[in-house]
Amino acid sequence: MLIVMEQGATSEMVAEVCRAVAALGLQAHPMAGSLRIAIGVTGNKHRIASDRIASLPGVSEIIHVTPPYRLVSRQTQAADTVVDVDGVSIGGPAFVVIAGPCSVESEEQCFAIAEKVSAAGAKLFRGGAFKPRTSPYSFQGLGEPGLRILRRVRERFGLKIVTEAVDTDSVETVAEFTDVLQIGARSMQNYSLLKKAGRTGKPILLKRGRSATLEELLMAAEYVLAEGNSRLILCERGVRTFASHTRNTLDLSAVPYVKANSHLPIIVDPSHGTGRRDQIVPLSRAALAVGADGLMVEVHHRPEQALSDGAQAITPDVFAELMIQLGRLAAALERTLA
Ligand code: PEP
Ligand code: MN
Repeated sequence: MLIVMEQGATSEMVAEVCRAVAALGLQAHPMAGSLRIAIGVTGNKHRIASDRIASLPGVSEIIHVTPPYRLVSRQTQAADTVVDVDGVSIGGPAFVVIAGPCSVESEEQCFAIAEKVSAAGAKLFRGGAFKPRTSPYSFQGLGEPGLRILRRVRERFGLKIVTEAVDTDSVETVAEFTDVLQIGARSMQNYSLLKKAGRTGKPILLKRGRSATLEELLMAAEYVLAEGNSRLILCERGVRTFASHTRNTLDLSAVPYVKANSHLPIIVDPSHGTGRRDQIVPLSRAALAVGADGLMVEVHHRPEQALSDGAQAITPDVFAELMIQLGRLAAALERTLA
């Protein structure tokens, strides 16, 4: 940490800051610049809680060098975390594809989609039974009957299941039915939900909040790891910007940033990331090229009749073509498709 003093700070103010640093058991190293004094702080293992020092007289600015997160940090664990989802590895060399409808609508719908995406090479099936909708008048999901449909999808097609828990009341029930527990963008900073989800011990898919920085995303992940659950997969799903040609702006730069700063796997969701089906194939290729560990994409056999997010759903045929393209691209990148 670097403490920058105001221009004109007195030597007594500098001494007071150095005493406050020493009181934390750390070392202060004052350095005189041509206009101002800066005080380097060493000896800390974690980010220093700097509020008290920041409020001392003469202090202008605090610059942190150590990130606020610990357990998710690359500095804590150099090797990549590989999350095992009942035999499917996410975070290893193979690129894993998750596909399925936005919402579970019926068994007929899920089976029709699952059959096609499974044949095309998807390893996990997504579908919301509890839906976080912007409008209370929109379809809210089938609830527990939807979870039972997902269980039958797993039995019939061997696909692992990813589905969302939207609140602390239902998280344990959802965990009983799913292989991966999704925490959606709207819930990224619901800390009681994160803790309870972490305690289920299930692999967690944590989606980036719609206005969340990557530091906030990693801090949210830290909540899950702090519960003793390190089976966590991050998901970039677009953030709100001024751009109006897409629903959100897919921030692919999140992938190399997360890879540099965290050992956790990260996948990309171009469906919610753009809201437009014409963007899905090119941005899925980009997700693989940028180094993501996998992809989550919405597929519907009748997008025009979908009860949610039809505009961003690709058809099973387009999905099958996408998987062929991803296979070729993976080979060129010396990776494989799971
Ligand atoms: C979803 O994946 O079903 C979903 C609701 O996405 P998000 O939380 O990213 O909006
Ligand atoms: Mn959706």
